[in-house]
Amino acid sequence: MGRGLLGIEELSREDIESILVRARHFQPAPHQPFGRFDTLRGRTVVNLFFEASTRTRTSFEIAAKRLGAETISITASGSSVSKGESLVDTLNTLGAMRPDAIVMRHAASGAPHFLSRYLPIPIVNAGDGTHEHPTQALLDARTILDRRDTLEGLRVAIIGDIAHSRVARSNIHLLAKFGASVVLCGPAALLPREMALIARGIELTNEMSEAILDADVIMMLRVQLERQNESAYPASEYFPFFGLRQEHIELAKPDVIVMHPGPINRGREISSAVADSQRSAILNQVENGIAVRMAVLEKVLAV
Ligand code: ASP
Repeated sequence: MGRGLLGIEELSREDIESILVRARHFQPAPHQPFGRFDTLRGRTVVNLFFEASTRTRTSFEIAAKRLGAETISITASGSSVSKGESLVDTLNTLGAMRPDAIVMRHAASGAPHFLSRYLPIPIVNAGDGTHEHPTQALLDARTILDRRDTLEGLRVAIIGDIAHSRVARSNIHLLAKFGASVVLCGPAALLPREMALIARGIELTNEMSEAILDADVIMMLRVQLERQNESAYPASEYFPFFGLRQEHIELAKPDVIVMHPGPINRGREISSAVADSQRSAILNQVENGIAVRMAVLEKVLAV
């Protein structure tokens, strides 16, 4: 793994495994707080978020603090800034602050890659447009591996707005590298055929029941209303076809793991009964976000 973390696509299996193993070390025992370490003492991590975030930004901040680093958060509204200007301004601002790493979220795919070419500072991609969200895929893998011995051979159904999902892209790359079989499902307009080209053996279907049959893992995705017209996917029309309900769970493996990167939209892509059920690992994903981001920050800052 070079400097920074821009995407899962460019990571090797070994890079991913080492992050997942290290993250395990940071997971707290049940009902215990996260441990505090000082491996990043004296370092400064800047969180630069041009798009909304609850889980990712908070957990990067907590992760950095648990390792003894200082954090500074800069937020901006993605919709009101022009891409080129904001990034150039940002470069100057950040250069002056001399941080040790920058965690960045931006609505434009490729924005962290652009920044990483100009700044001699490791950049961690916290979500770039519809492209990648690498730490989400890492925490998803950690969550699955807390319940299964291996990713190899698992059937993983990823359902919803595949077209606009950076979570789907990062997960497809990761799961394919580890030999899981991936089936993508969504309305035709949100399921571009070229998604099948990301890795070998990816199935595409518009039928929820087909995707979920015998699934080990179901990953639900939010309809990315910030990237398209809201009126195209009203909840009342979306939910009957692509909303996850108890009847679907019966088709999957009995110990199926239900996941969602959040924020969840109850009654649009998932029913409350399923989101709050025993099969749901949604809050475990949130918890694992901290452990995985601790492992990533440590690795990126090469301690
Ligand atoms: N939180 C995830 C992301 O930033 C998923 C979502 O927003 O739907 O991509």
